[in-house]
Amino acid sequence: MPTRSEQLFTEARQHLVGGVNSAVRAFRSVGGTPVFFRRGEGAWLEDVDGRRYVDYVLSYGPLAVGHAHPEVVRAIQETAALGTSFGAPSELENVLARSVKGLMPSIERIRMVNSGTEACMSAVRLARGYTGRDRILKFQGNYHGHVDALLVQAGSGVLTLGIPGSPGVPAAVTETTVTAPYNDLEAVREVFREYGDELAAVLVEPVSGNMNCIPPVPGFLEGLRELCDASGALLVFDEVMTGFRVSLGGAQERFGVRPDLTCLGKVIGGGLPVGALGGRAEVMDHLAPTGPVYQAGTLSGNPLAMASGIATLDVLGREGAHAAAEAATRELVEGLRARAEAAGIPLSTHQAGTMFGLFFTETDPVTGFDDVAAADAERFRHFFHGMLEAGVYLAPSAFEAGFVSTAHDRVALDHTLEAAERVFAGLPR
Ligand code: PMP
Repeated sequence: MPTRSEQLFTEARQHLVGGVNSAVRAFRSVGGTPVFFRRGEGAWLEDVDGRRYVDYVLSYGPLAVGHAHPEVVRAIQETAALGTSFGAPSELENVLARSVKGLMPSIERIRMVNSGTEACMSAVRLARGYTGRDRILKFQGNYHGHVDALLVQAGSGVLTLGIPGSPGVPAAVTETTVTAPYNDLEAVREVFREYGDELAAVLVEPVSGNMNCIPPVPGFLEGLRELCDASGALLVFDEVMTGFRVSLGGAQERFGVRPDLTCLGKVIGGGLPVGALGGRAEVMDHLAPTGPVYQAGTLSGNPLAMASGIATLDVLGREGAHAAAEAATRELVEGLRARAEAAGIPLSTHQAGTMFGLFFTETDPVTGFDDVAAADAERFRHFFHGMLEAGVYLAPSAFEAGFVSTAHDRVALDHTLEAAERVFAGLPR
């Protein structure tokens, strides 16, 4: 008898491409059937067969205060009752903007959009419009949404120009995108020597979250800042994932490096679709209507999304809330590491605030894409399915970071660590 998830997935494949509305959900790299969920509460998810899981995906990051936090739900419900969209200014946009600016002082002006992809797409256009230059630099293994110019694979050498990472992206669109290895400042210097005065922007995930979780090596972000200052390129931090996670003020607060522009998403909408682009007023004011760089959105600044983001940042910003979630993340990662070691399984880990990374490899620390690609994918697959079976939901890919929320309490952590102990012990050698 197939499970309800299996039945729903069979039907979903008749309607949706690959049965899903976002590619990574399809369990392609781990195999098996995606789990369909019917409910989330705090740190827990409940699937359509009634099984419960501690959730470390948290919708790929947004749910920093857990599922269905009562204050977030109430804010959304009360706002919905007043109308769902006006296509005109509303006060909630000011409130969320104020809240974000309070946490990230590099943001003097902000433009709300509807996703991280949109934020990054607009950042590239704004940087180009502001500097009058076309070239951009991004890093291998960093992901900035499905923006044509940023869906780029590295060529074989450091200075080869970007080649399209997907059919449908014209080579003409990616030839102004240069890629360099993450955490390799020497390679970045080489790019600047060659292209420095043509670069509009350097886009970076200040802690990388799309090749699992890899923090910057000391001096990397500072080096990018110096190179950008010397060349006139804008430094754009893609904090879609790291914002309100690596610390409340994002990676820019944790590492003390001030970007010109910041892309936000995920937590800023607390589970509703929000992204944002913010930064120096002088740069941001080049956007329409103040400036000539066009950008707009029918649902941008949507009241429900604003209300959800405001309530989420409110709860997260309360005395000790984020710090407690960080402490829970540390306990989780240290606990997993100790249990892997006891079972004789090589496991390298990273933690950055409430983000974490697990790598089945002897390489410790993992610092770049090649390290992640060289980790044991088969062992990850076994670990993933073992944990799923034991009631712990991890992202179905070894290239995704893990996330912890303020709702991950003692019960959730103990459940996870007990499960991991059994699963590590049972992994094929
Ligand atoms: N930038 C980063 C760093 C991300 O992690 C993501 C999404 N995982 C995006 C941009 C794109 O955001 P969205 O999926 O909301 O378009």
